[in-house]
Amino acid sequence: MHSLQSLAVLAFSVSLSVLASAANAALPPHVNITQGQPWSGCTKRTENLRPPKVPFGIQNQAGPEKAYVIRAARILEPRTGNATLGGHLIVRGECIVGINEPIPPQAEVVDLGQVTLMPGLIDLHTHLLLRDEDQTFPYSVWWKTTPYRTIEGVDAAIKSLRLGFTTVRDTDHEGAVNADTALRDAIARGVIPGPRMLVVTAGITITGGDMNYMLMSPELAGKVPEPADLADTSAQLVERVRSQIKQGADWVKVYANSTRRQTDPVAMQGLPQFSVEEMKLIVNEARRFRRDVVAHVYGGPGAQAAILGGVRTIEHGPLMSEEDLRAAVKMGTYWVPTLTTYHKRQTTDFEKQFVQYHRDAFQKALRLGVRIAFGTDVGSFPFGEQNQEFGLMVQYGMKPIDALRTATSVAAEVLRMEGEIGTLAGGSTADLIAVSGEPEADIAAITQVRFVMTNGRIFRNDITAQRFEWAWGN
Ligand SMILES: [Zn+2]
Repeated sequence: MHSLQSLAVLAFSVSLSVLASAANAALPPHVNITQGQPWSGCTKRTENLRPPKVPFGIQNQAGPEKAYVIRAARILEPRTGNATLGGHLIVRGECIVGINEPIPPQAEVVDLGQVTLMPGLIDLHTHLLLRDEDQTFPYSVWWKTTPYRTIEGVDAAIKSLRLGFTTVRDTDHEGAVNADTALRDAIARGVIPGPRMLVVTAGITITGGDMNYMLMSPELAGKVPEPADLADTSAQLVERVRSQIKQGADWVKVYANSTRRQTDPVAMQGLPQFSVEEMKLIVNEARRFRRDVVAHVYGGPGAQAAILGGVRTIEHGPLMSEEDLRAAVKMGTYWVPTLTTYHKRQTTDFEKQFVQYHRDAFQKALRLGVRIAFGTDVGSFPFGEQNQEFGLMVQYGMKPIDALRTATSVAAEVLRMEGEIGTLAGGSTADLIAVSGEPEADIAAITQVRFVMTNGRIFRNDITAQRFEWAWGN
């Protein structure tokens, strides 16, 4: 090893210990290690593999000189809240040039008329490999093959993109091993259309906790795959983080609380699964590989361990107390509430109470200034319905423009991709949607999607002739 390299290694180890003390220290953007593709063509990244010539890529080429002039009655930048009236947006190749910039020669005009043009949406909590029926007995891993579930994932990816979700963080393949990295890479290479994906592979949990098959005959242990990665010792935690990254995880997910099944219905307290020390161990091991940690939490000691342990985002959080929320403010932790999934499942008194607690926590978080980011938990409910999350956020008291920010500028920040996605700024990726109406005035407009562009390619256009059509010939 050259001495310069040794110095670099030394500097890296020192920086790790610094990182360990700062919950949200800036890290370089994520890279996709299995295929070596850059996340965005608009930023300078090392590209190890050239994208092959594959169907969606061929038919929706975003050649470096291909330019679009997209006209819209309103062009909305959620970050600032500014709407440009009657202007145009220039796209060249995979990138946004800017609003009302000079029109390049030979640019193709797309006149969208009476719509609001804005950045593509980001969902930070999806399960593209999960379906309703997978969550009840008999579980999907018992009767669906992973190739079958992968095909379901293609359908989920296309449905999500149609709704305007141009980036998703997929937070657990739920037993469809390797299907999330496969789907991510196929989309990145243009094999199929879909949202840009960042994936966690499997979540990490404890034996006897969340994501275990409870009461299964012990004779079946080891013969039926568990839906998550079980880890009960510090050594196992470190090993799980490392092997997930080896398999291509962009984020590490941990179940800090167990599920509703193990939530005390009288005290309304979730089962805590890890200590602060264990959380720090996971977070620091992930940071070695420049990865962030996402934690499934309900509230109480499990949530506190995740927050104080330095995870970047906490998910769900319906039972979070004021103390938990204050800890999130202090640590700069982002909260992804996923209101929709619980709101949709309210049959028992417990489930109804759970939703009441969730709404109360959300309103407290707004008052305390918790950083809220957008995620739906879609997959636990049908694809095509995940945009209902916006309406719930507003119904619970968030301003429509802030709800739009959670799924654009704030979500991009969570992914450490600010300036790359979730904005219309020049030099960012051309991920765009157009909706009927004014979503910052009436949030329901965000569900009226008429146009979707991903990486400079038009995927959906209900307004003019530039419609994506899949042709199977050569
Ligand atoms: Zn989930």
